Amino acid sequence: MPYELCDKIKNMTPYEPICGDYPVRLDANESFIAPDEELRQKIMDAVSGVSFNRYPDALANDLCKAFSLYYGVDSGCVTAGNGSDELISVIIGSMLQKGDTLITLSPDFSMYRFYGEMAEMNMVTLQKDEDLQVNVEDILIAAKEHNAKMVIFSTPCNPTSLVTDRNEVLRLIRSTDMLVVVDEAYMDFSNQSILREAASFENVIVLKTCSKAFSAAIRLGFAVSNKRITNALRAAKSPYNVNSVSQAIGAVILNEADYNHDCISQVLQNRAELYQALTKLASKKSQIIKVYQSDTNFIFAEFQDATAVHTALMNKGIMVRCFSRHLRITVGSKDENNALVTALAELLK
Ligand SMILES: *Cc1c(COP(=O)(O)O)cnc(C)c1O
Repeated sequence: MPYELCDKIKNMTPYEPICGDYPVRLDANESFIAPDEELRQKIMDAVSGVSFNRYPDALANDLCKAFSLYYGVDSGCVTAGNGSDELISVIIGSMLQKGDTLITLSPDFSMYRFYGEMAEMNMVTLQKDEDLQVNVEDILIAAKEHNAKMVIFSTPCNPTSLVTDRNEVLRLIRSTDMLVVVDEAYMDFSNQSILREAASFENVIVLKTCSKAFSAAIRLGFAVSNKRITNALRAAKSPYNVNSVSQAIGAVILNEADYNHDCISQVLQNRAELYQALTKLASKKSQIIKVYQSDTNFIFAEFQDATAVHTALMNKGIMVRCFSRHLRITVGSKDENNALVTALAELLK
C-alpha cells in the first residue's frame, strides 16, 4: 500500500503569498517605513555580534527584556515566538486537548481556525453581527452551551479594523473560566490594550507581534500571561524557536522607543488622510458602500463589487486584500495612498 496523506492535510495547499510585479503593495499590513540609516547601522552592529556557531538563547532573555521595557510588563511573563503565528499554534496545541472546544469569531484572523483544525479541536465559530463588533454576551452564551475551553480573537480586529472596548474584554475575562487569548497584533495603532493587566489574571494570554508596527522580516511575536501559563508555554514551544539574528535585531528595535513612536505617528497621520480621502470618494461613488473607522494600520471598506475592484486595482499595479464584499487596504506612504485613491477615482462609477 502506498503511503496516504491523512484526512486533515490531504486537500491542503501551501499558503501562497501574492507574487508578481505590483509597484504598490497595500495587501499585507506591513509598515511602509523601512529603518533609517542610523537604525540600520545599529541592526548591522548587533548582527555582527551574534555567535553564529551557537544555538540561540532558548528563552530570548535580552529580547524579552527589551519587550518588557517597551510595553511596561514583567519580562518573566513574556514568551517570544517565531512570529505570533507560531505562538498561536503552540497555544492551541498545548493549552487544549484533542476534541476540546475552541471558540473563534468571524470575520477574524483566519489562522485561528487553521491551527484549531490542525490540532483537531472542536471548532465553534460565532458570526459577528452586522456592526462587525465583538459581542461579549454571545461569546459567554456559546462558551456555556459548548463547555468551551478557549476563545481567541483579535482586537483591533484583522480584517474589520475595529477595536473592542478594553472594559468589554476585561468583562469577558472576568465572566469566564475558559482561557481568553487576546490578539493585540494591531494595538500599537489603538489605545484599548489590556497587555499590562494580562499577568494579573488566571485565564489570559495577550499576543503581540513586531510584524505590523516595526518589522515583518524578523518574524517576532510575544505572548504575555501570568507566570504559570508562561512556564507552560515555554515548556511547550520548541527550545530554540527564535533565531539569534532575530533576537538581536528585535532587541535593537524595541530599545528605540522614540523612533518607534515617531514611525507609528506617521502611520496614524497617513491613516487619517487615507480615511478622509476614501470617505470623500464614497460620498461621490455609489460603488463604495461603507468605509470603516480604523484602529489599525489598514482600512476596511465595503464595495458593491469588491472582487471586480480588486482585479481592476491589480491591473493598475496596486495590490490590496479582498474579502468577498470588502477590501482591506494597508495604510501606505503618501505616494502609495495617493496612487490608490487616484486609481479608485478613475475606475469607480
Ligand atoms: C499579522 C497578524 C498576526 C501574525 O503576526 P506574525 O507575528 O507576523 O506571525 C497575528 N494576528 C493577527 C490578527 C494578524 O493580523
